[in-house]
Amino acid sequence: MGEPSKILLDEAELPRRWYNIMADLPSPPPPVLHPGTLQPIGPDDLTPLFPMDLIRQEVTTERYVDIPEEVLDVYRLWRPSPLHRAHRLEKALGTPAKIFYKYEGGSPAGSHKPNTAVPQAYYNARAGIRRLTTETGAGQWGTALAFACSQYGLDCEVWQVRASYDQKPYRKIMIETFGGVIHPSPSELTGAGRAVLAEQPDSPGSLGIAISEAVEVAAGNPDTNYALGSVLNHVLLHQTVIGEEAIAQFGKVGMTPDLIIGCTGGGSNFGGLAFPFLREKLAGRLDVTIRAVEPASCPSLTRGVYAYDFGDTAGMTPLMKMHTLGHDFIPDPIHAGGLRYHGMSPLISHIYELGLIEAVAKSQRECFEAGVRFARTEGIVPAPEPTHALAACVEEALRCRETGEEKVILTALCGHGHLDLAAYGAYLAGDLDDHELSEAQLATSVSGLPAVPDGRP
Ligand SMILES: *Cc1c(COP(=O)(O)O)cnc(C)c1O
Repeated sequence: MGEPSKILLDEAELPRRWYNIMADLPSPPPPVLHPGTLQPIGPDDLTPLFPMDLIRQEVTTERYVDIPEEVLDVYRLWRPSPLHRAHRLEKALGTPAKIFYKYEGGSPAGSHKPNTAVPQAYYNARAGIRRLTTETGAGQWGTALAFACSQYGLDCEVWQVRASYDQKPYRKIMIETFGGVIHPSPSELTGAGRAVLAEQPDSPGSLGIAISEAVEVAAGNPDTNYALGSVLNHVLLHQTVIGEEAIAQFGKVGMTPDLIIGCTGGGSNFGGLAFPFLREKLAGRLDVTIRAVEPASCPSLTRGVYAYDFGDTAGMTPLMKMHTLGHDFIPDPIHAGGLRYHGMSPLISHIYELGLIEAVAKSQRECFEAGVRFARTEGIVPAPEPTHALAACVEEALRCRETGEEKVILTALCGHGHLDLAAYGAYLAGDLDDHELSEAQLATSVSGLPAVPDGRP
C-alpha cells in the first residue's frame, strides 16, 4: 500500500473547543460602529437580533470556547470530516505537489454551513427564542439553518435571493423538507422588500436585500432572532472545528501544509480551515502561506476598499470596517459561481491588512474547468464556490511541475455541487462567459459608502 488517500479521525477525536484567533492577533480589528452615533456598539445594541451567548462569542478574546455537549451530539452526525489526498488529481496534473482537501460535503446541507448553524440554533433555543430568520443566496445557508432549527425545535424563515430562488428549486424543497419556510427576496412581506420592488419590480435580489428583510422581521418580533451564515466573528469561530481537525489529521501522517488555499465569500470556510494553522504560524511553529481566492466578478478583498460599510442594502446593520464593493453592489447575473456578497468578514479583512494572508481573484471559466477536472479525477462534483480554490490549487500544482517542488497544498473542499448542476450545465454547454468587474461599476458601487470621519480607527 502506498500513501493513504484518506485520513480519518475517530469520533472521540472530535475537537471539543473552537479556536478564537482574536486572542493571538498583534492588534484587534477596528470596532463595529452604531450607524447613528458612529460610536462603538455595545452588547445591548445586538440583543434584538442575537442571544447573549453569541454576542459574547462575537467579542470575546478568550483563546478557546468550549463546544456544548448538545452541539457535539449533532456534529457527530457527520464530523469529524475526512481529509483526502488528491492522488488522482496530482497524477493528472503531473505534479510533484501533494494536494490535500478537507471535505465538508458530507454534512446535512452538503457544505460547511451546519458547523455554525447548529450552535447558532442551539444558543437561540436555550435563550427561549422560538423562530430564526435568515437570508440565503445559493441556498446552502438556508438549508443548514433549517436543518439546525429542526434539531432544537425552532421555526426557521428564509429569504432567498430571487435569482437563485428561480434557478434552484431543489434548495426550496430541501429547506421545506427540514421544516423551514422560504420566500423569494425582495418580497412584499417587509418594508425593505417593498421599497426595492417599488423601484424595480423585477429585481433579481441580492444578499444585501435579503439580509435587510430577515433583520427587519427579527428586529420587530421579540420571539424571533436573526442568524447570519458568514462574515461575523462567532461564525468564523464555529468553523474552526474544520482547521482543528485538519491539524490532527496532518499530525497522524507526520506532515504539515506549506500552502493553504480557500475560497472566500464572507470568509467563513476559509477562516475555519486557516485560523488554527495561522495560530501555529503566529506562534512560530509552522511556516505556511495562506491564500484566499475570490471571483473576478465579486472581488471584495482584491479590489474592494477597506472602509466602514453596512452589512445589508437597506443600511439597517451596524457599520463594519471591511473590504467592500459597497452595500448596493449586485454581481453581474452572468456570474454563476456563488461568493456574491459585497463585503468580506471584518476579521479576515483585518488579517489581510496585517499581511498575514494573500488574496487572488479568478475568472469563472477557469474555476469550472478546475471543478470538472476535479470531478473527473477525484469523483466529487464540487460546489461552484470551492472551484475557485481548486483553480488556484491547479495553478500552484502546475507551478510545482515546473520547479519540481514537492509542496504540500491543503484546500477547503467546503461543499458538493449536486444542487448546483445547472451552473455546470451552463459551463459544459459553453454558455458561461468570464466577467470582470469594471472600474466604472466599482466606482459607482463604492460611491454609496456611508461617510465615517477619518478620526475613526
Ligand atoms: C456559503 C458557501 C461559501 C461562501 O461562504 P464563506 O463564508 O466564504 O465560506 C462557500 N462555499 C460553500 C459551499 C458555501 O455553501
